[in-house]
Amino acid sequence: MPKIHYKSAEEVELIRASAQMVSKTLAEVAKVIGPGVTTLELNNLAETYIRDNGGIPAFLNFHGFPYSLCISLNDQVVHGFPSKHVLVEGDIVSVDCGVILNKYYGDSAFSFAIGEVDEITKTLLRVTRECLDKGIEKAVTGMRVGDIAYAVQEHAEKHKFGVVKELVGHGVGLELHEKPEVPNYGKRGSGIKLEEGMVIAIEPMINAGRAGIKFWDDGWTVSTIDGKPSAHFEHTVAIKKGKADILSTFSYIDDVLKEKNNN
Ligand code: MG
Ligand code: MG
Repeated sequence: MPKIHYKSAEEVELIRASAQMVSKTLAEVAKVIGPGVTTLELNNLAETYIRDNGGIPAFLNFHGFPYSLCISLNDQVVHGFPSKHVLVEGDIVSVDCGVILNKYYGDSAFSFAIGEVDEITKTLLRVTRECLDKGIEKAVTGMRVGDIAYAVQEHAEKHKFGVVKELVGHGVGLELHEKPEVPNYGKRGSGIKLEEGMVIAIEPMINAGRAGIKFWDDGWTVSTIDGKPSAHFEHTVAIKKGKADILSTFSYIDDVLKEKNNN
């Protein structure tokens, strides 16, 4: 079994640089995302932005994945392909981005509402983002992976939403997916102990309806079994000085969206 790779303070800073580039890339996506835009345009602008800033799009060619972003629309959960699909009012779009910078990975995802979405979808977006925050609160020394998992699951299920169980968060570093796995469901006090130097991606995938998912013939796309929408928010987080140090950020995205709403 592969071992957990505990990072030095220097390595955490390298991962922070990658994660910050991911966050800024997602903010570039936020600037243009809206009705009339294709998801392929979003992919292409992200790829250009990452390369112009000296990074490598981490998902492109990862196990053969053909794009720089995973873009998952409405009932798609994760790993969707960017396409010529034109976004319309009422869509929700989960955008997952990874960057390699100085050999280290960063990984973050954000789900966007296109114009006005219905009430249940609005609640789904809010609650999934809250699930991420609640998971991060437990990412401190003395807790275990199961404490993160439980916090995410409890909050989602309180709102009668389905928690995706087949796909999980993960360690991040010189590899995109390192040990330990970080599930979004589980028992308090169970699993691997969280310790100084661990860097993990926490990434709740929450469905408006049932928890069940299906895997498409394209080998990648995952969607909900009942056709109801799904949301995905993700941060790369280090356990540093006993606390959660969030290496990616949504602040750039939030600033862009606030600015757009005011215009
Ligand atoms: Mg991701
Ligand atoms: Mg991830």
